Amino acid sequence: MKLSFAGGTDVVGSLGMVVETHENRVLFDYGMTPSKPPKYPMKVPPIDSLFITHSHLDHVGMAPYVCGEYGSTIWGSEVTLEVAMILLHDSIKISKYEGWSIPFDIHDVRRFSEESTLIRYGDKAHMGPLRISAMDAGHIPGSTMYKIQENDGKEIVFTGDINVEDSRLQKGVKPPKCDVLIMESTYAGRSHPKRKDVERAFLEKVNEVLDRGGKVIIPAFAVGRTQEIVQVLSNVDEEKWLDGMGKRVSQIYLRHGDAIRSSGELRKAMNQFKFVRTPYQRNHAAEAPLVVTTSGMLDGGPVLEYIRRSKNDKKTAILLTGYQVQDTNGRMLMDSGSMEIDGEIQKIDCEVQHFDFSAHADHNDLVKFAEATGAEEIILVHGDNREVLAKDLESFAKVRMPTNDDIYNY
Ligand SMILES: [Zn+2]
Repeated sequence: MKLSFAGGTDVVGSLGMVVETHENRVLFDYGMTPSKPPKYPMKVPPIDSLFITHSHLDHVGMAPYVCGEYGSTIWGSEVTLEVAMILLHDSIKISKYEGWSIPFDIHDVRRFSEESTLIRYGDKAHMGPLRISAMDAGHIPGSTMYKIQENDGKEIVFTGDINVEDSRLQKGVKPPKCDVLIMESTYAGRSHPKRKDVERAFLEKVNEVLDRGGKVIIPAFAVGRTQEIVQVLSNVDEEKWLDGMGKRVSQIYLRHGDAIRSSGELRKAMNQFKFVRTPYQRNHAAEAPLVVTTSGMLDGGPVLEYIRRSKNDKKTAILLTGYQVQDTNGRMLMDSGSMEIDGEIQKIDCEVQHFDFSAHADHNDLVKFAEATGAEEIILVHGDNREVLAKDLESFAKVRMPTNDDIYNY
C-alpha cells in the first residue's frame, strides 16, 4: 500500500491520511483548522471510504467534501458520526455569518449523514485488500484508533488523538501492538499536570470567586470538555447554568451511555444545571453565580454575551478550561487582558485563569505509549514540535516526520 498525507503533518489541524492499494483508496480523517478564516487540507483524489477517528473539526471538518464530490462512504463510531453532524452544520452557519467560503454545502452534509456507516470498537471492516479494525482512543467519547493491514502485510495503527490518562468521562487508552505507528504529537515537548491536581486547583478557584461574591464564567469546548467540567462541578452547590452547543452534545453522550465511563454520573451532574434555551433565560444565567458555555476559545458563541456583561467586574473570573490556540480571542485574553467583543478590542477587568484540562497524551505519555506498541517504525503527525519527540523515540524505533509531499510504501 501507498501512504500519504493531505494535511496536518506539522501542524495541529486539518489532518488527512490517504491509503492507496491497487484496488482502492481509503482516507483516514479529513479535517479543517477552525481558525479565522478556516484552513483546509489539500484536495484528495477519488476516495472509496473515509474513516473518522473522532468528532473534532481538525479530524472531521472536511468530510462532507468527499461525500459530495466522490460519494465516499463514511465510517466512525456512533457518537462520532452524530456529534459530527452538529459540528458540520455549525461550520456552514459560521461561514455564512462570517462571509467565508467553505468547500461543501448543506447537501454534502446530508450526503455525509446518508453515507455514514457505524464501526464499533472491536469491529473489523474489509475494504478490498485492507482489513481495518477499530479501537478506543481514550481522547473524547467515541474516539477511535484504526489498525490497518493489507493481506498479511504490516500492521499499521493510526491513532488520531489519544489520551492515556483517565478522566471523568473516559478511561485512558491502552497501547495496541503494531509494526508501524502513525501517532499524533500535539503535546510534543510539553507536559501537563495530573488530572486530580488540575481538578482540585480549579474547584478551589471556583469557590474562592463565589466566596468573594463574583461570578464564575467557564468557557468550555462543546465536545468532551463541557461534559467533563459539568461533572467536576457536581459538588458546587450554587445555581449553575449551561449554555451553548455543549448541551446537545451532552444529550448524545447520554443516549450512548456505553461511550462514557458513567452515564449515571453525567446525568446526575447535568440535572443540577439549568439549561439556557431562550434570551430570557440567558438574562437569568448572566446574573447567576456560575455558567458553563461555549465557545471554549472565546471566538463566538454565548460566552461573549456573558463576558460583555461582566467585563468591568473585578470580582468575576473567567476560567479557561482548554488549550487556547494562537490568534484566538482566548489566547489574546490570556496574554493581554483584552479581547474582541462586538468588533472592538476591549479591556477585561475580570480575573482570568487557565486550567490545563487536556484530553491529549503529553510528551512522556506519548513516549511510553509508542514504546509499548513495539512498533519498529513511528510516523509522527499532527504536531508543530515533532523534532523534540522524535529524539526521545529514536532509541527504540525508526522515526519519520512526513511533510504533505512524502509517500511511504508498505
Ligand atoms: Zn481531538
